[in-house]
Amino acid sequence: MKHKKLIIDLLRPYKWYMAGTLGMNVVAAFFNVFSFTVLLPILQILFHVNSEHYSFIEWGTGGIRDFVDVAKNNGYYYSQQLIDLYGPPTTLLLLGLMLSFLTFLKTATYFLGSALLMPLRTGVVRDIRSRIYDKILHLPLSFFSEERKGDILTRVTTDVNEIDLSITSSLDMIVKNPIFIIAYFFTLVVISWKLTLFTILVVPAMAWGIGTIGKKLKSKSLIMMQKLSDSVSQVEETLGGLRIVKAFIAERMMRQRFERTNNEYRRLANKVAIRQSAAHPVSEFLGTVMIVIVLWFGGILIFRGTGTIDANLFIFYLVILYTLLQPIKDLSKATYAIQKGMASLERICMILDAENNILEAPEPITVKGLEREISFSHVSFSYNGNTEVLHDINLSIPKGHTIALVGQSGAGKSTLVDLIPRFHDITGGSIMIDGQDIRLLSIKSLRSLIGAVHQESVLFNDTIRANIAFGMPDASEERIVEAARIANAHDFIMETEHGYDTMVGDRGGKLSGGQRQRISIARAILKNPPILILDEATSALDTESERLVQEALDRLMTSRTTIAIAHRLSTVKSADEICVMHQGRIVERGTHEELLALGGHYKHLYDLQQL
Ligand code: ADP
Repeated sequence: MKHKKLIIDLLRPYKWYMAGTLGMNVVAAFFNVFSFTVLLPILQILFHVNSEHYSFIEWGTGGIRDFVDVAKNNGYYYSQQLIDLYGPPTTLLLLGLMLSFLTFLKTATYFLGSALLMPLRTGVVRDIRSRIYDKILHLPLSFFSEERKGDILTRVTTDVNEIDLSITSSLDMIVKNPIFIIAYFFTLVVISWKLTLFTILVVPAMAWGIGTIGKKLKSKSLIMMQKLSDSVSQVEETLGGLRIVKAFIAERMMRQRFERTNNEYRRLANKVAIRQSAAHPVSEFLGTVMIVIVLWFGGILIFRGTGTIDANLFIFYLVILYTLLQPIKDLSKATYAIQKGMASLERICMILDAENNILEAPEPITVKGLEREISFSHVSFSYNGNTEVLHDINLSIPKGHTIALVGQSGAGKSTLVDLIPRFHDITGGSIMIDGQDIRLLSIKSLRSLIGAVHQESVLFNDTIRANIAFGMPDASEERIVEAARIANAHDFIMETEHGYDTMVGDRGGKLSGGQRQRISIARAILKNPPILILDEATSALDTESERLVQEALDRLMTSRTTIAIAHRLSTVKSADEICVMHQGRIVERGTHEELLALGGHYKHLYDLQQL
C-alpha cells in the first residue's frame, strides 16, 4: 500500500481502541456461532428429524471433531431430558429464551466493538485536519499560488470528509468482518468439510464478480474529486472577482464555464455512484446462487444417506453459510469505500508530503537587530526553476535608509521584497544582514526583525484589539492603544460600537480600506521591527484617509530601515534611493531629481502618473 506509513502513523495513537475492538469482535463471533447452535435442538423438537435416543457422554473425550459430536449428542440429550420433564412447548420456550440471551450477549459485544472504534474514527479525522492545517502554516508561500487555493480548500474539507465517510466508517467492517468470516468458516469446516470444500469452489466466482466492479472505482474517484476542486476554485475566484464579472457583464460566460465543470463532475459522480450501487445487488444475487448450488449438492448427500451430514445439521450449515455471506458482502462494500477513500487520501498526501524547501540552518544564528545594512549581491530568483524573474540584483540598504522600489507591475518588486523574510529562497547570489547570509539565521529571529504593511491589509475575523496585537498575545492594553494612536486609528476605533472589542468581520470587511490600513500600520508599530517592508496601496483612498494613512506611515518609517514598493509621490520623493525595476532587473537608481534628469524609465513612469 502506498501510504502505509501515514496510515500506521495515524492509527498508532489509537492502537488500544483497535485492540479492544478486535477482542470484542472475537467474543461476538463466538456468541454468534454459539447462539445458532441452539437452533439444532429446536429443529429437532419441531420436526422430529430423528428419533434416536441419546445418552449422556462425558465431556472432554477426544479431539475437536469428537468434541463437536459430543456437544451435538449432549445437546440433544439435554433437550430430550427437558422434554421428558416439561413437555415440548415449555422446552421450546426455554430454548427460545436461551437463544435470546445468547443473542443479547452477541449484540452487546458487537455494539461495544463498534463503540470502541468511534474515538478512533473521529480522532483520525481530527488528526488529518490538524496535520493539513499545520502543513499549510509551514509550507512556503510559493506552494500556494492563487489557482491552488480552491483546490487546497477542497482537499481540506471534501477530501477529509470523504476519508471520514469511506475509510474510517469502513474500519468497523474491516476489523469485524474478517473475524466473523473466519469464525463462520471454521464452523462450516467443523460441520462438514466435504460440503465446505465444495462451497469453496463456488466462492472464487463470486469474488471475481465483485472484483470487476471495484477496479475502476479508484481512478474515477480521483478524477471526480479533481473536478470538484475545479468547481470550488471557480466559485472562489468568482467570489473574489464578482465586481469585475458584473462590470464586464460576464455572468453568462462565467456561468457557462462553471456549468461545464459542474456537469463533468456530475457525469463522473454518476458513474461512480452507479458502480457502487451495483455492488449490493450483484453480491446478493451471486450469494443466493451460491446457496442454491450448495443446497443442491448437500441435498444429494442427504438423499444418498452417506452419513456425512443429517438434515438438522444441514439446515444449521445453510444458516451459517447464509450468515457468512453478510460479512463477505460488507467486506467487499468496505473495499469499494476504501478504494474511494484512498483516492482522497492520495490527494491529501500531496499536501502532507509536500516538502518545505525553506529550511532552517543546522546551527541557526539568532539575530537581535539590524546594525549596519541589508545587502543583495548578484541575487537571482525563479519561481519554477526555469524562468528567472529576478536577475543579478545588487542593492545595499544602510540602516535607517528608505529605499523605494518602482516599476511596472510584473517587474518583480513584490518578489524582491518577499526574499528578505525568506518567503522564497533565492536561486543565485546572496542576501546578507550585517554581513550574515540570511539562510544562516534562525528563521524566527529573521522574521521578527521585519514588519510589513501590505496594500491588501490582512485582517482576521476577530476583534480590533486582537488584530493589532496579532502574533503578540502578551502586548499590554496601553501599548496597543498607543500603537493605535500613532497609527491614527485610535479615534475611529473609539467611534465603533464596541471600541477595541469590535469584530472586524471576514477579512476586515466591516472597515473601510483606509481604516484597515491604519490597523495594519498599528500592528507594525506594536511589533516595532527595525526593518519595514511597505507595499503601498495603489487603490485610491479619499484625501482625508490618504492623509491619515500617510501620516501614520511617516511615523512608522521614522528611524526604521524601509523598503517600500512605492506609489505615493511623497514616499518616492523622500526615499534615500529609488530603484527602478524592469523585467526583473534594477535598471535605474538614484534620487527623484537625478532620475527625472536621466529621462529614462523613471521619467516615463512619472509622466504616466502625471496624466
Ligand atoms: P510586481 O510586484 O513588480 O508587480 P511580481 O514580483 O509580483 O511583480 O512578479 C514578478 C514576476 O514573477 C511576474 O512575471 C509574475 O508573473 C511572476 N510571479 C509572481 N508571483 C509568482 C508565483 N507565485 N509563481 C510564479 N510566478 C510568479
